[in-house]
Amino acid sequence: MRIAVYCGSSRRSPELYCEAARRVGTALAQRGHVLVYGGGRTGLMGAVADGALEAGGTVHGVILDAFVARDVHHRGIAALHQVDDMRKRKQGLDERADAFIALPGGLGTLEELAEILSFRKLRFHERRLVLLNTRGFYDALIAQLERCIAEAFDDGDVRGYFAVTDDPERAVALCEAAAP
Ligand code: AMP
Repeated sequence: MRIAVYCGSSRRSPELYCEAARRVGTALAQRGHVLVYGGGRTGLMGAVADGALEAGGTVHGVILDAFVARDVHHRGIAALHQVDDMRKRKQGLDERADAFIALPGGLGTLEELAEILSFRKLRFHERRLVLLNTRGFYDALIAQLERCIAEAFDDGDVRGYFAVTDDPERAVALCEAAAP
């Protein structure tokens, strides 16, 4: 499978999250999946790519020209597709993915995973999204979604649009289990 991983790019993110990202990359490679991600080398983004590459995996990045000019791209990956705007980048990741894993991250990560969820609600796709809930990172987001359901902005179907685990290897297995 081609599995898109969304995650933070911050260089100051906690080591615990970087370690989980590296394990996701390793598990993807060991199980024969292609890692699709934003092409960066900083923060969790660098960690997931390094984990996959060190385990002999294939990594595809979709990155903004401006980020390559700023030299934040990963130099070791097989395919680095460059685009000239952020929406094309998000679309490029989406088009290349059979399933998605969201690791901890900031606004960029939240934006990306919110789009996957809202497009699922609109029935534009049926692909699996797994939230890697390391140290309860996504507990508050899950509580917010429950509030959306309780106040009838969304219906209970939303609960079926994503799976949650705090185990990096299990996150990959959950993507496989949902394969069409
Ligand atoms: P962050 O979680 O904020 O570190 O962002 C994770 C990744 O998403 C980084 O590669 C960002 O460059 C990217 N990103 C940030 N904002 C957006 C956006 N509006 N659309 C698409 N990607 C974004």
